[in-house]
Amino acid sequence: MFRRLALLALICPLCAAYALPLAAQESRGVWCDALGKRLMSVDAAACRKLPFTPGQVRSVEGRPLMLRDVPPVTPNTNAAPVKIRSGASGKRAGRIFLIGGIHGDELTSVSIVFRWMERLNEPEPRRYHWHIVPLANPDGLLAQPARRTNGHGVDLNRNFSTPDWSHDALAYWQKRTGKDPRRFPGKAASSEPETRWLETEIEHFKPDVIVSIHAPYGVLDYDGPLQKPRRFGRLNLNQLGVYPGSLGNFGGVYKNIPVITIELPHATAMPTVREQRQIWDDMLAWIQKNIAP
Ligand SMILES: [Zn+2]
Repeated sequence: MFRRLALLALICPLCAAYALPLAAQESRGVWCDALGKRLMSVDAAACRKLPFTPGQVRSVEGRPLMLRDVPPVTPNTNAAPVKIRSGASGKRAGRIFLIGGIHGDELTSVSIVFRWMERLNEPEPRRYHWHIVPLANPDGLLAQPARRTNGHGVDLNRNFSTPDWSHDALAYWQKRTGKDPRRFPGKAASSEPETRWLETEIEHFKPDVIVSIHAPYGVLDYDGPLQKPRRFGRLNLNQLGVYPGSLGNFGGVYKNIPVITIELPHATAMPTVREQRQIWDDMLAWIQKNIAP
């Protein structure tokens, strides 16, 4: 499809400009259908209606990396919502980057992002600017069976370009994990397209907090400068340590951006609806306390 577009741009640049949104729609449709088939809790038709856009980069196996940007609106307006322009008069709404599915076999970490997106229309979350990637590792989730690593067999959460990567990442993998193939950090820092894309999005979006969802340890983890969250729903803070190449290390330690890691209790069974809501409510309360809208 994208090769066809490049050719079209050569022949008729205006046609290509019209074709690009169509290509994005087609890409979204295929992506939503695949997710709907893989995850019982994702409705493909509802997903198709959400304004996801494909990133410039694709996964190792050529799947789109989809992003939804939700700009802030002013609260309690009785007319149509008015966008707060980021940077206008020095005011910039707080920015939250929500990421699911870095590990492809943690199915709940993708599903819960779709559940939580249903709450973005509520007044409090809409005061913030959200950047949402429900599935950072589509090749892992859509493999049969689903696998933790990406299309190159790399654990993306050990592949971020942390300053300690060259010195520690491969040594840690060899000595501490016994060369566990599920935890292979890659041949070089940021060697994977999915990792590079997330790093670029972090650089451009400049989030005030990154929320990364995993499973199945049933805890909260935190790296970064602000007050640590103590408890979201039944998940208590239990800092698991800092690993070479992890997102917590890259964002929280290296870039000084708070990174909340939510470890759901099961990789394939969703928390109850009540627990899903409680985790969201507690997360939002932490955000409201620590990040200006
Ligand atoms: Zn994980």
